[in-house]
Amino acid sequence: MQFNKELEQIKTYEGGKPIEMVVREFGIDPKDIIKLASNENPFGVSPKVVETISKNASSVYMYPDDSMKDIKEALAKKYQVTSKNLIIGAGSDEVISFAIRVKANKHKKLLMAKTTFAMYEIYAKQIGAKVIKTPSHQHNLAELLHLYKKVKDIGIIFLCLPNNPLGECLDKEDVFDFLKKIDNNTLVVIDGAYQDFAQNKDEKKKIDPKELIETFPNTLYLGTFSKSYGLGGMRVGYGIAGEEVMDALYKMRPPFNVTTLSLKAALTALEDKEFVEKTINSNFKEMKKYEDFAKENKITFIDSYTNFITFTFKQTMNATNIAQILLKKGIIIRDLTSYGVNGIRVTIGTPEQNSRFLEAFKKVLTT
Ligand SMILES: *Cc1c(COP(=O)(O)O)cnc(C)c1O
Repeated sequence: MQFNKELEQIKTYEGGKPIEMVVREFGIDPKDIIKLASNENPFGVSPKVVETISKNASSVYMYPDDSMKDIKEALAKKYQVTSKNLIIGAGSDEVISFAIRVKANKHKKLLMAKTTFAMYEIYAKQIGAKVIKTPSHQHNLAELLHLYKKVKDIGIIFLCLPNNPLGECLDKEDVFDFLKKIDNNTLVVIDGAYQDFAQNKDEKKKIDPKELIETFPNTLYLGTFSKSYGLGGMRVGYGIAGEEVMDALYKMRPPFNVTTLSLKAALTALEDKEFVEKTINSNFKEMKKYEDFAKENKITFIDSYTNFITFTFKQTMNATNIAQILLKKGIIIRDLTSYGVNGIRVTIGTPEQNSRFLEAFKKVLTT
């Protein structure tokens, strides 16, 4: 069968390998498998959220509240904006797809860093939009600006702050200086999936969505419940923007795009601030172990503002091989070869998981 030509340019997204796959392929007992591949919360989910989900289970015969009033109000309060500034998606992934579809097409391009969240490119290519990337892997505002001026018809720019899968993060001041140089007619998306981690490590990285959208009406801020809040399996994310951008995004939204239980879970997760705080504090304490390990073993790592750390290897080491050896030991991490990077991305786990990973990694390096 012949499908739309655009599809030929698309590499199917490969998520972190699920635990079940490793059980099947290598016959390892599930309790011996650790998954440090998808930046999930190592402490799981707040018990309060579990309670909310079970309490509301019997209401699922009804369609969800499509106004999503409660979660919007809670997020509006958190960010000091109004409900009208909010759109809720099935993961922030869905909001990314809305944004791309309102500002990119066969004639209008998407601009992004060379190595960043893979879905920007995939959604763009689905609709036949061209993707322009910087020469540098990490976000480089001078290169982005240069390309923006040079290449015609850029409709949308993505900045992932901090960046997945590399972990680096631009300073807010530099981002705002960059935004001043961008035309009002270009939508700039700030993907803040890991902002709560970054802000905890360094205030200079903090992007306040209210200040952002009030200063630059051509911007869209994205947040998600999948990482620090531990709700990856519920699929809830959101966008914050001014009225004009919001109106456009809402035209792309399918009805009832977020489930009843997901909306309730997100609301409860938002209230359990302690759980998120514990997650973030443990994250950077544990990350230090990875950094010390890298220094001791002379491995390069990227200074990370997220809940993962990226190691890059010299040519004598092969990331795919290393990932495969670890997989056979029941440790799932992310091989970055498909991103054009000879390196691995490891989600910071619980103290026990991290010890196990570092021990296994040490063996890989010394044999
Ligand atoms: C995880 C992630 C998202 C979105 O996750 P959802 O589960 O769809 O909310 C978006 N951007 C980046 C950079 C991410 O890492």
